[in-house]
Amino acid sequence: MNQVRTLQACKLAGRESQPQNTVIDLKTCRLGDGQVVIIAGPCAVENEEQMLELAQSLKELGVHIIRGGAFKPRTSPYSFPGLGEEGLRILARARELTGLPVVTEVTDVRYLDLVLRYSDILQIGSRNMQNFGLLREVGRLQRPVVLKRGFSATIEEWLLAAEYILAEGNRQVILCERGIRTFETYTRNTLDVNAIPAVKELSHLPVIADPSHGTGRRSLVAPVARAAVAAGADGLMLEVHPCPDEALSDGPQSLLPVQLGQLMAELRPLAEALGRRL
Ligand code: PEP
Ligand code: MN
Repeated sequence: MNQVRTLQACKLAGRESQPQNTVIDLKTCRLGDGQVVIIAGPCAVENEEQMLELAQSLKELGVHIIRGGAFKPRTSPYSFPGLGEEGLRILARARELTGLPVVTEVTDVRYLDLVLRYSDILQIGSRNMQNFGLLREVGRLQRPVVLKRGFSATIEEWLLAAEYILAEGNRQVILCERGIRTFETYTRNTLDVNAIPAVKELSHLPVIADPSHGTGRRSLVAPVARAAVAAGADGLMLEVHPCPDEALSDGPQSLLPVQLGQLMAELRPLAEALGRRL
């Protein structure tokens, strides 16, 4: 990748157009401002009781933003697809209960109005990173958007996807490195740690990392989370489930709440050593 060419192509996402970091104020935290922001929650919202109980634990641990999927992009059409609007309602109740902002994925332009009614932050998933119609639609909103990297996308393609959103007027884009597909099959994906400092060099947008999808293995989530923070990530997105063995999606990569607590305790002194804060 030629840095000069990428910077020329990324007229709005590139650092040349804006040398200072974009800071996104989310009430409980500031993304892009030196803080290490923690986004956590289940892969999918499964039921109200479980979600509300988990949300309360996440709040007590000091999590800044709650995640939870209601519309799930699944590889197989026979896998749990999420609860749809009922999942969004439950997520909104978790927000009421905790006062924390929530993020959930919008998989299709047809669901955009619905998701907007319930969610503070929109997520565009890896599989939709180049759904240009969807990117343009979320670009017309004034709502923060987490844009996950396509699992086969180059850094330049990822930044150009962000450019679609920015070009329509929405400047609140959060880039999320969630692992790419490589020849390695031991791990589900390979979290591209390189991409974190590379994107911070090229762009003013905040960059977070998702070591849950980036590894696919619970035991690897904490070490790779630490690596991502050390590499300069502005935050982490982590899947957490009260009973991972029974999760309806992504159980093998989900942390228990107590494990998230341990990870956050490790990240605090690490952040401080790097001149940051959690
Ligand atoms: C998710 O966050 O649950 C998800 C489906 O992520 P990705 O789009 O990165 O696979
Ligand atoms: Mn998941």
